[in-house]
Amino acid sequence: METRLVKIATPSPLVRYGIAIAAALGGLLIRFPVASMLGNKLPYITFFLATSVSAYYGGFGPGIVTTLLGVALADYFFVPSLGLLSLGSAADILGALLFVGISGFISFLAGRLLETRRHEQALRQIFHQTLVSIGDAVISTDVDKNVRFMNRIAEQLTGWKESEAKGLPIEKVFRIVREDSDVPAELPIEKVLSTGSIAGLANHTELIARDGRRIPIDDSAAPIRDTRGETAGVVLVFRDISERRAVDRALEASESRCRNILESITEAFLLLDKDWRIADTNPAAEKVLRAPAQDLLGKIFWDLFPATLGSNLESSFRHAVQERKPAFLEYHYEPWDEWFDISAYPSQQGLAVYLRDISARKQDEAALVRLNQDLKQFTFAATHDIREPLRMIMLYTQLLQNKLELENSPLTANIVEGAQRISRLLDGLLQFSRLGEYDAAAPSVVDTEAALRDTLEDLQVSIHERNAAVTHDPLPLVLADHAHICQLFQNLIANSLKYCKPGTKPAIHVTAAHTQGICRFAIHDNGIGISSEFHHRIFEPFKRLHGPEISGSGIGLATCKRIIERYGGKIWVESAEGQGATFYFTLAEAKQAAAAHATVQ
Ligand code: ADP
Repeated sequence: METRLVKIATPSPLVRYGIAIAAALGGLLIRFPVASMLGNKLPYITFFLATSVSAYYGGFGPGIVTTLLGVALADYFFVPSLGLLSLGSAADILGALLFVGISGFISFLAGRLLETRRHEQALRQIFHQTLVSIGDAVISTDVDKNVRFMNRIAEQLTGWKESEAKGLPIEKVFRIVREDSDVPAELPIEKVLSTGSIAGLANHTELIARDGRRIPIDDSAAPIRDTRGETAGVVLVFRDISERRAVDRALEASESRCRNILESITEAFLLLDKDWRIADTNPAAEKVLRAPAQDLLGKIFWDLFPATLGSNLESSFRHAVQERKPAFLEYHYEPWDEWFDISAYPSQQGLAVYLRDISARKQDEAALVRLNQDLKQFTFAATHDIREPLRMIMLYTQLLQNKLELENSPLTANIVEGAQRISRLLDGLLQFSRLGEYDAAAPSVVDTEAALRDTLEDLQVSIHERNAAVTHDPLPLVLADHAHICQLFQNLIANSLKYCKPGTKPAIHVTAAHTQGICRFAIHDNGIGISSEFHHRIFEPFKRLHGPEISGSGIGLATCKRIIERYGGKIWVESAEGQGATFYFTLAEAKQAAAAHATVQ
């Protein structure tokens, strides 16, 4: 048998037929000394041997050649009645035919034997080659646990050559220890020999090579049975799993990092699998969900918290999984009367849920709303109650003035002026407190250029009186409230007119620049300016940098700040004393803001 795996060496036809001729001649040479004993009897006797030798080495063909040569030689030398190619007695002819028949049969049998031998040899070689070239390391031992065979990979891993290792006890060549220690690991061979069945290595075993290298290996051992089925030895198959172990270790390290993070975060974490079962949790989740991990793990979320069914939490979770989009929500869990801030992220494994108990914050918020409402009511009542006596003061001052005929008296004028100032302050206070209302109308698209036009109309008299020039660039659309934007412009432009440099014609310019959906407005004036130390403080309520010589309530900029912050913007000033001032504020551009608003909804 010849395959691509092995090539059995067979003698060439020349050698085979040379042997056939030599064997025939050999048969003849041996026959001569025998002739003195046998005479002409049994002329072919030595040629049986010659044919057998020839067929054994060369197969059927050479056997036949030797047979025929044997017939010719024997007839010529030892059967005179026949001679070469001459007819003899019937007995001689029968003898010759008998020899040819028997020798032919011997040749046939020897040829078959030769073929079987070659076949076996080929099988043995294939088997050997397979073991040698197998990708895993292979070592076989006898029943006394001495090495009998090693393939190339086994040689590389152990550092032993097969020739050196042959006959050595296996534990000398195949030294194994537990990973990261010097504690010897149990050889699977022992188990195989005692149980007669296949055995594997314990997890995380390292082979110590001859040069001291430690190689993580994976291994199995199986008994080698003889033809009677008895254990004749053990075959060990093992492989280098360094790369796999490195990947495993990296994975273990990353898993333990993740676990540490999950354990240390204050947010409760739940991993819900595709069937909504809780597959993982962290200690914070046990606290928030009021149950130990073993009561949570493996349970269906909806079974544990049935009150969530039909709620915005259920719809958000299902939507997140279906659409593969994260969900963020604030959820009130009725049975516990608690609020949770929840983020849910869909993944291959299911849904990763993070929860934070925000009940305390919600309570604070509710308290703040109540407080604000109380404050608003109080301000309203207080301003209303103060306004009444104030009206009386002004009325009686007027009456007193008429009665005492004190027309144009600075005394009464000061009283009236003071009362008017109190009245303005009350107006500002009321306006400021109303901005804190939570039930304000939803923002809409506001044309800021139109809002500026309306404001300038209202300020017409002041502008005219001061001979001021108010100019502007094209202004954008923002998402806010028209009245609020008018109030902003009104306060800022009125200030620019009010705090102008004496003897200088006020010049006020309004611009807007926008980047990434945010509009930045700027109102620039050429007035008295503000020293940098007051840049922050002027936005505080009732903070004024001037006395009664310039009228004002100190509420204007605080109101502007409150409006802007309500829309998520910022307001600030850039100025230096005597060098004018530029007030900036930011608002979301209408297009961007509308889109953002839509997603929040
Ligand atoms: P007021 O009613 O006093 O104007 P505001 O809150 O509007 O109150 O302003 C607070 C203070 O900031 C003002 O008293 C003034 O000193 C200063 N201020 C505001 N705008 C300007 C400006 N354009 N130029 C100079 N100073 C200003």
